[in-house]
Amino acid sequence: MASKNKILVLLGDGMGGRPVPELDGRTVIEAATTPALDRVTRDGACGMLSPISRGVPAGSDTSHMALLGYNPYELYRGRGPFEAKGVGLDINPGDVAFRCNFSTVDPADGRTVLDRRAGRIHSGTDQLRQAINEQIPEIDGVQILFKESVEHRCALVLRGEGINEFVTEVDPHIDPAPGQPAEQYYDCKPLPGHEDDPEALFTAQVVNKFVQRCFEVLNAHEVNRQRVAEGKPPANITLPRGVGTAVHLEPFATKYGLDGAIVVEVDLVRGLAMYLGMDVINAPGATGGRDTDEISIAQTVVSALANHDFILANIKAPDLGGHDRDPEQKIAAVQKVDRAVAYLLDNLDFGSTVMMLAADHCTPISVGDHSGDPIPTVFFGHGVTPDCVQSYGERACAQGCMGHFLGADVMNILTNYSGSGEKFGA
Ligand SMILES: [Zn+2]
Repeated sequence: MASKNKILVLLGDGMGGRPVPELDGRTVIEAATTPALDRVTRDGACGMLSPISRGVPAGSDTSHMALLGYNPYELYRGRGPFEAKGVGLDINPGDVAFRCNFSTVDPADGRTVLDRRAGRIHSGTDQLRQAINEQIPEIDGVQILFKESVEHRCALVLRGEGINEFVTEVDPHIDPAPGQPAEQYYDCKPLPGHEDDPEALFTAQVVNKFVQRCFEVLNAHEVNRQRVAEGKPPANITLPRGVGTAVHLEPFATKYGLDGAIVVEVDLVRGLAMYLGMDVINAPGATGGRDTDEISIAQTVVSALANHDFILANIKAPDLGGHDRDPEQKIAAVQKVDRAVAYLLDNLDFGSTVMMLAADHCTPISVGDHSGDPIPTVFFGHGVTPDCVQSYGERACAQGCMGHFLGADVMNILTNYSGSGEKFGA
C-alpha cells in the first residue's frame, strides 16, 4: 500500500566544490553562512553522492536523469531531444533533434558567420519560425519540425526513415574576434567512424539542405529587412548543434507510481521533465540568474507539494559562481539556497516529507566547470535516522552514515524513507 508521504529533492546547481586558497582553504560551502543547511544536517543523514559514476563530471542533463533513476549510459543519446521538448516541440522515439541559434551570416555568401546570436534578437522570431514551417515542411522525405525559444534560441526536429544522430555540428561556436576574419559555418558530416554509415550520410545531407534553405527563406524575410534598416544584424540563418536521438523513456509516474513535478531554472532539465511526463512548474521570481528569487522558488515548492508526491527543485545560481570562478558570488548563491531551506523548514511538514539536499554536480572555483568530485548530501525529514554530522559541507558530509552512493541509489533511498518503495523478494 503506497504511503502518501512526500519526497522533495532540492539541488543547488553546481553547489559542491574544492578548497579555495582565497577562503583560507575552506570550500565555498564551508565559508558560507548557512544556518538552515546546518540545521537539516544536524537532524539528517549525510553522505557523498556521485550522480553518474565516481569521478565522472556530470552534465546537468545527465545528472538529473541519473538522480531520477534513468541510466544515462543506456538512455542518453544527446541533449537535442530535451531541448526540443523544452521549447514545446513534439518528440517521438527515432526523431533526431538539435538545438539551434538564429544567427547572422554575411548576405553576400550566406556562409560567413558574423554573429552567432543575431544580435540576441528578441522579437520577430515567431514570424521567422512561421516562414520556416511554411516553406520548409520537409527535405528529401524527412519531416521538418522547427520552433523558436527565448531570444536567438530555437530547436529543430527531423522525423523520418533512415536518419540518426551520428553527425557533426553546423554551428562553429566562434564569433569573429575584433580584427580577425570571420569563420564560415561548418558543413554537417558523419562523425568520425560513421563516414560510411548511410543513415549518418543522409542525415548530414538533410541538415545541410535545411541550413541552406533557411538562409534563402530568412535572408529576404520582412523581419530581417526591417532589422537591417534599423542597423541590427539580420537573423538570416539557423545553425544546428547539440544533436541527439529521441529514445523511449518510461514515464516517471509509471516507473515509480508517484505524481512528480519539477521546479527548475534550467531549460534543459525542464525539457527532460516534460519528456518524462512530469509537471513543469515555474516559480514567478525565478530568473535562472544570480539575482533569482529563492523565496519564490521555495514558495512554489511548498504549493506544488500540496498536490504532488514528488518535487525536484533546482536553484541555478551556485553553478554560475563556479563557472565565473568567483568565490564571493558563489558564497552569496549558496546563502540563497540556505534561505530557501529556511523557508521550507518554516512552511513544510517534515513529519510527512523527506528531503534530499544536494547538487547535480560540483562546479569548483578552481576548475571553473563541472567536476567529478562527490557532492555533499543530506537526507532530512520523514523516516531519516540522523547521524553525528553537525554542519553542511564537503568534509563534514563525508563523515556521514550514508557513505558514498550513486545517483542510481537516490530514488531507492528516498522511496524507502517515504514508504513508497517496493520490497525486493518475499
Ligand atoms: Zn548543473
